[in-house]
Amino acid sequence: MKILVTGGLGFIGSHTAVELQNQGFDVVIIDDLSNSSIEVLEGISRITGKTPAFEKLDLREKSAVQDFFKRHADISGVIHFAASKAVGESVENPLLYYENNIGSLVYLLQELEKKNEANFIFSSSCTVYGQAGKMPITEDAPIQEAVSPYGNTKQIGEEIIKDVVKVSNINAVLLRYFNPIGAHPSAEIGELPIGVPQNLVPFITQTGIGLREELSVFGDDYPTPDGTCIRDYIHVVDLAKAHVVALQRLLQKKNTEKAEVFNVGTGKGSSVLEVIKAFEKVSGQKLPYKIVGRRSGDITVAYANTNKANAVLNWKAQSTLEEALTSAWKWEQKIRKVLAK
Ligand code: NAD
Repeated sequence: MKILVTGGLGFIGSHTAVELQNQGFDVVIIDDLSNSSIEVLEGISRITGKTPAFEKLDLREKSAVQDFFKRHADISGVIHFAASKAVGESVENPLLYYENNIGSLVYLLQELEKKNEANFIFSSSCTVYGQAGKMPITEDAPIQEAVSPYGNTKQIGEEIIKDVVKVSNINAVLLRYFNPIGAHPSAEIGELPIGVPQNLVPFITQTGIGLREELSVFGDDYPTPDGTCIRDYIHVVDLAKAHVVALQRLLQKKNTEKAEVFNVGTGKGSSVLEVIKAFEKVSGQKLPYKIVGRRSGDITVAYANTNKANAVLNWKAQSTLEEALTSAWKWEQKIRKVLAK
């Protein structure tokens, strides 16, 4: 079966392409390389022994999307990762985010709507919950007003999909990711942020390797046991596997609603200081860090209740925080050597 993975050369998409190929799916990747590089394709083939089909295409170009689906009428499912994801940039340039994250989604759904049957998986985010009142967060926790245009594109994206499935043959799964980290254990693929990393773990590994002087910890006066923010860090390979089981559920027509929503996390919260300690343990070195003021837009605590995904998808995150950090560290060391050549 042929599966389209949009944004398939990006961080989560590339790991999902690997897991899909491992399960025998034929993968076609669309990516415009705006936040990834073509070398990722080689990484995927080194891991799986198979190179996915690839088209360099910008999903904001409606006619290119239409043309793609004319040439690939046999696509059984779409996993849609392609999006712009820098929160700060979305505040400065909201229209870029609405055009890319909403425009591209609409063009894809317009093509899928023409099919007799279509299966669609959407990358959503735990940001839709804002600062939830109760931990761990269940899927029926209220959606809160987005703090950034990026976050808003995830909420609007979910609403668009929920409206479209009602009047079409599209079946969808919306996966609300918590905090994806880590890399493939082979270190053939991983996360490679452009510029200064926005997320904790790439900042930690870049500091560990000496690329950054020290890590800034944004606030130690939050109402948490050690005063730093708490998040649910999920190994990207576990997250990738969740996509495969969600897709299989749709393909086997086991879904009970036209648009099902699942949290994808570990169910365990870790504070920033706990992540630093765990990194120091796995890397065997001290991490230079300083406590600075809070960063605007950061919530205090978010971790998932994953009972629904455990029961319905028969999926559970397998890796520990230490395992995820070990893979991230191995990847950082490998990629710096590659880039230095
Ligand atoms: P990423 O930037 O590594 O991957 C996205 C890929 O999409 C990139 O390779 C980029 O080149 C491509 N792309 C962007 N716009 C495109 C366009 N118009 N046409 C074709 N390709 C395009 O990001 P990621 O971390 O892998 O995230 C994947 C998805 O998961 C995104 O939708 C993101 O919003 C969502 N998400 C990510 C996180 C996270 O922390 N990484 C958390 C929650 C949700």
